[in-house]
Amino acid sequence: MEVKTSLLDNMIGVGDMVLLEPLSEDSFLENLRNRFDHNEIYTYIGSVVISMNPYRSLPIFTPDKVEEYRNRNFYELSPHIYALADEAYRSLRDQDKDQCILITGESGAGKTEASKLVMSYVAAVCGKGQEVNKVKEQLLQSNPVLEAFGNAKTVRNDNSSRFGKYMDIEFDFKGDPLGGVISNYLLEKSRVVKQPRGERNFHIFYQLLSGASEDTLKKLKLDRDFSKYNYLSLDSAAVNGLDDAANFRTVRNAMQIVGFMEDEVQSVLELVAAVLKLGNIEFKHESRCNGTDESRIKDKNDLKEMCELLGIEQSVLERAFSYRTVEAKMEKVSTTLNVAQAYYARDALAKNLYSRLFSWLVTRINESIKVSESIYDLVFNQFLSALVFNALDQLIILRPGIEWTNIEYFNNAIICDLIENNQNGILAMLDEECLRPGTVTDETFLDKLNTICAEHQHFESRLSKNSKFLTDHSLPHNCFRIQHYAGKVLYRVEGFVDKNNDLLYRDLSQAMYKANHSLIKQLFPEGNPAKVNLKRPPTAGSQFKTSVGTLMKNLQTKNPNYIRCIKPNDKKASHIFTDSLVRHQVRYLGLMENVRVRRAGYAFRQAYEPCLERYKMLCKNTWPHWRGPAREGVEVLMADLQVPAEEFSYGRSKIFIRNPRTLFFLEERRRQ
Ligand code: ATP
Ligand code: MG
Repeated sequence: MEVKTSLLDNMIGVGDMVLLEPLSEDSFLENLRNRFDHNEIYTYIGSVVISMNPYRSLPIFTPDKVEEYRNRNFYELSPHIYALADEAYRSLRDQDKDQCILITGESGAGKTEASKLVMSYVAAVCGKGQEVNKVKEQLLQSNPVLEAFGNAKTVRNDNSSRFGKYMDIEFDFKGDPLGGVISNYLLEKSRVVKQPRGERNFHIFYQLLSGASEDTLKKLKLDRDFSKYNYLSLDSAAVNGLDDAANFRTVRNAMQIVGFMEDEVQSVLELVAAVLKLGNIEFKHESRCNGTDESRIKDKNDLKEMCELLGIEQSVLERAFSYRTVEAKMEKVSTTLNVAQAYYARDALAKNLYSRLFSWLVTRINESIKVSESIYDLVFNQFLSALVFNALDQLIILRPGIEWTNIEYFNNAIICDLIENNQNGILAMLDEECLRPGTVTDETFLDKLNTICAEHQHFESRLSKNSKFLTDHSLPHNCFRIQHYAGKVLYRVEGFVDKNNDLLYRDLSQAMYKANHSLIKQLFPEGNPAKVNLKRPPTAGSQFKTSVGTLMKNLQTKNPNYIRCIKPNDKKASHIFTDSLVRHQVRYLGLMENVRVRRAGYAFRQAYEPCLERYKMLCKNTWPHWRGPAREGVEVLMADLQVPAEEFSYGRSKIFIRNPRTLFFLEERRRQ
């Protein structure tokens, strides 16, 4: 029998950190660096895959590679994301075990790319029938559509996902995909109206302006020039290496494959154009003789064009930007808006419009890719969730400026603190504050937190028992700090209130509902006067709480597979490995702990000499004397005994045996 030692042959450094000796943070980093320098971007910690972002295309994702990894044991070949995908897919197909793939890492570390690699691998190895191919194509093409509307250039990543997403793909008993469901979390809607310096709005705006035909632009009343639009930041409109025009064609094509009708695409683009027009509506003060300050629209051309695009009567929208109707005790009272309130109303409308459009896109995609009921009844209920879990990033959206945090999803004190505590968690308090738009600022919110903290001396009662709110006068301005079980985290409150807040005055939702445009009407059902609902719609924070809660429950029923993504530098550059940056990620991803736990997971480990001494009698090639190095003797021995390759691993000085069963087998043979 051929000895399967591919983990050892030509291996750069150590392929599995479990076998790293001696184990220290330094040796861990050195091993990562050594492998990275030799284009080995994947390294295992047992069954966990560490993925280093190469920031350039490597020739390791070819159809040949797919064939190489197909149906092979996990440890048989050198580490690769395909090995994990294959393992997950086969346990799903052959053992009927629900799988989920958790992909974590900081912004720009490669989570989205990793999820696409997993999806494309599974698509390549599963069934090939015509119907199956259509399902696969639709699942894959949902990516460019969602990325166009949900991704943006940030300082950390030119294609940063500004929403959380996970995808359930269902397979039949043969392992063919039947369809899927996408769930989305909390789009960073504040980006629609304002972007941090050096960042862009969502890709679709630039794609549309660069890629649409003259004719389309004319119909949408748009100008190709980005700088004409207030909502598009001026300083960073073109991104190196990003071809907006070409991407627009890709997105149009993807929408068609996913199953959007031509008139639906048109409606979607009209809404995108309407958002741009909306951003150009400006207001000016008008002093009234009674001393009040009222707002008036400066130049009505953009308003007019927006109304034409959406089939809204101009006077209706104009009124909604000037007055706010409040209902109190069965009585309607109209108050005029001042300029600040009018801008607030405009931006709230833009944020609502865009984020509702995004949710509608997800629902529409789901309609196309969902498993039809009839098939569903016939098959086993199996799932593979290719999961791009950006929850932490989404939390960062709620609390920008986070210093560092620990990512451990199944028992994450941070998530518990912020989310589970419905009555008095920080998000709940934020919601409370946001009930009074206009009067609350980030500073008043922080004041409130600090006051409550002082009242309670220790803040634990408001957080989970694992954490403490720390009062610390040395804190930078605008910050608070929480001691989580994993460490201290500094939260900067800048933008907290703004990002959580998008209360839409009812006058505006009613104006939208009156539109003669079926999509926009559909997006603002609460504008229907017959359905007046005084309850406040959920805020961003509370929606996030609900969706993460559901996700957590869902995840716990599945077998997890982990991909930990690391970015090698913060220059988006290939070939640069910045030690301190990688060390930081190794720490907060908890990778050292991971290795220790996995090491303990090997039931048995023994240095090569005593191992060979004990078992050499079981093989005629090693008995009575083995003249070469002990390790080679052990290799010959294990091959001769046909112990499956995945049952053990070779370390530098020791052999590691995974399952006590293998050990019993060896001991049994000795006794015979
Ligand atoms: P965010 O949290 O901001 O969404 P992310 O973890 O999803 O970040 P990606 O968008 O997947 O990060 O990756 C950022 C960029 O890094 C990609 O656009 C691509 O240029 C590069 N990259 C990531 N993974 C790979 C890979 N396997 N091969 C080549 N380039 C990659
Ligand atoms: Mg991403």
